[in-house]
Amino acid sequence: MKGFAMLGIGKVGWIEKAKPVAGPLDAIVRPLAVAPCTSDVHTVWAGAIGERHDMILGHESVGEVVEVGALVKDFKPGDRVIVPAITPDWGAVESQAGFHQHSGGMLAGWKFSNFKDGVFAEFFHVNEADANLALLPDGIAPETAVMLPDMVVTGFHGAALAGVCPGDTVCVIGIGPVGLMSVAGANMMGASHLFAVGSRPICAERAREYGATDVINYKTGDIVQQILDKTKGQGVDRVIIAGGDVDTFAQAVEMLKPGGAIGNVNYLGEGDFIKIPRLAWGVGMGHKMVNGGLTPGGRLKMEKMAALVEVGKLDPSRLVTHRFHGLDKIEDALMLMKDKPTDLIKPVVLID
Ligand code: NDP
Ligand code: ZN
Repeated sequence: MKGFAMLGIGKVGWIEKAKPVAGPLDAIVRPLAVAPCTSDVHTVWAGAIGERHDMILGHESVGEVVEVGALVKDFKPGDRVIVPAITPDWGAVESQAGFHQHSGGMLAGWKFSNFKDGVFAEFFHVNEADANLALLPDGIAPETAVMLPDMVVTGFHGAALAGVCPGDTVCVIGIGPVGLMSVAGANMMGASHLFAVGSRPICAERAREYGATDVINYKTGDIVQQILDKTKGQGVDRVIIAGGDVDTFAQAVEMLKPGGAIGNVNYLGEGDFIKIPRLAWGVGMGHKMVNGGLTPGGRLKMEKMAALVEVGKLDPSRLVTHRFHGLDKIEDALMLMKDKPTDLIKPVVLID
């Protein structure tokens, strides 16, 4: 089969590989829709997780089951499924400890395009199918559903990591597709004043649609000062980081009230350290929590996120700005993600 792969840091291309084989608990899936991610860009062009050779890229997909192992109970060939970006080993001790994202080691629940071939291929392998696949509800189109495995669940995870509570003032730094879903998540969790930081007009418009009360442009002035100006010098209760770089933490700490929390879902592709300013962190005693986490995976999370779409409380299709048709268009979609034209939020590739 053919797949679109990372050949080495900074290099991508099409390769031929053997079709994967399902173990007793596993499934083989054919993609119906896939989406490239900013994380694919960090992985290939920033070398953020180190060198990888001939590893098929991609971790965002919905697909059709083509084969299941003998012990799979709930799925059969022909089922249309949502495939989470994170497909943990659910029996691992880290999963038992509540952190399935790190089953088998730091970030090791993230298998696709990290430790094994990803979804940008004619077929891909899903471990523990009963625990890691969710049926695609009939009413959700694949192009919408493909926002669930990563964009929706990651954005909402940022809001959960920041601990948003009803009435909190919240700042979301970065309003690409992930940050926009953090805006939606924080809004559902009860944010009052909800500040969204970005520069591109299309993202600003979506942020307002998803619940932002104010949009702040980081290119036209210091965002800490802008937040302090809008909050009578108080700052915010919660900061969700979904964009920026290692310096963004300093800004998040500075705009946070004592007792507040930061939820980072940004993938730090470069730099050795993040920055926590000593004075703004209360000389070590400010009760300002800093949390950062990999997106959750597994079946239940996908079913819950899909339920939000099914009942009409969330419309992630508003993230999709570019559509491609055919597996061979994956390369174009990924390059679009790398180049980030101003009218892009998220591209999808539909495989008919
Ligand atoms: P985008 O690149 O589409 O969006 C980034 C956002 O950050 C944009 O709104 C951009 O503004 C803004 N931004 C850039 N620089 C700054 C800055 N200096 N200060 C403030 N804002 C800034 O990324 P995605 O939404 O696709 O992904 C966001 C991050 O989440 C990525 O790092 C991605 O790898 C990561 N991620 C993490 C996951 C996890 O499991 N934790 C899962 C999936 C993704 P504008 O473009 O408008 O100028
Ligand atoms: Zn992703």
